[in-house]
Amino acid sequence: MGKVEHAYARCPVCGYVFRVPSGGAYVTVGREADLCPKFPGRPSDGARLIRNAVTMCPACSFASQEEFGSLDLTFDERYGVEERLREDGLLRVFRTSPPPWLPFHAAEVCSKELGYRARDLGDICLRASWVCRKEKEHPFESTFQLRAVRHFMRSLEQEGLYGRELSVTTYLVGELNRRLGHHREALNWYVNAERTLEGDNLAWLDRLISRQKEQAASEAA
Ligand SMILES: [Zn+2]
Repeated sequence: MGKVEHAYARCPVCGYVFRVPSGGAYVTVGREADLCPKFPGRPSDGARLIRNAVTMCPACSFASQEEFGSLDLTFDERYGVEERLREDGLLRVFRTSPPPWLPFHAAEVCSKELGYRARDLGDICLRASWVCRKEKEHPFESTFQLRAVRHFMRSLEQEGLYGRELSVTTYLVGELNRRLGHHREALNWYVNAERTLEGDNLAWLDRLISRQKEQAASEAA
């Protein structure tokens, strides 16, 4: 791993200033079937890189996938977020010794309060499930997969997705269902995903769907 550089961030909710690892380039060596990037080296190094995608304030637990500097919250938004963070049960339990997935949970809570799309909430939960897998936190991996499925399904119903985003989201609902052991459900969603591909030039996704469909079929048998 290259040297970790640091920058400063100022929390848009409570104003606390703290050091954060700054992005920087990294190498991936392909993706798993749920699109989790594979990194060379130890899984925990990969987990750390995925975790860098979310920043969490150590003082008030405000968290976001966006750079803090680019966020400008209104008084009401700050108030709403503070209330949510204060009332959150998981944050209350885990704040003193935060597990690796906690920033993603906090980001989900804050993004929901700030009115982000269900597609974005699903993305946060999907990344949380990747971190849990790399850190061998298996019960939480399933919890986040389930939450990702729920957000993605709501997004498909209500957010008018199209093109690549529609196909990838539909496929992910299938793949996450397969990983949760819902094989029949998974097969239906792979078929839905294939239908969304008509006319689209996403050969890699087409191949991935065929492969995962076969796998789900053999697991369901
Ligand atoms: Zn803060």
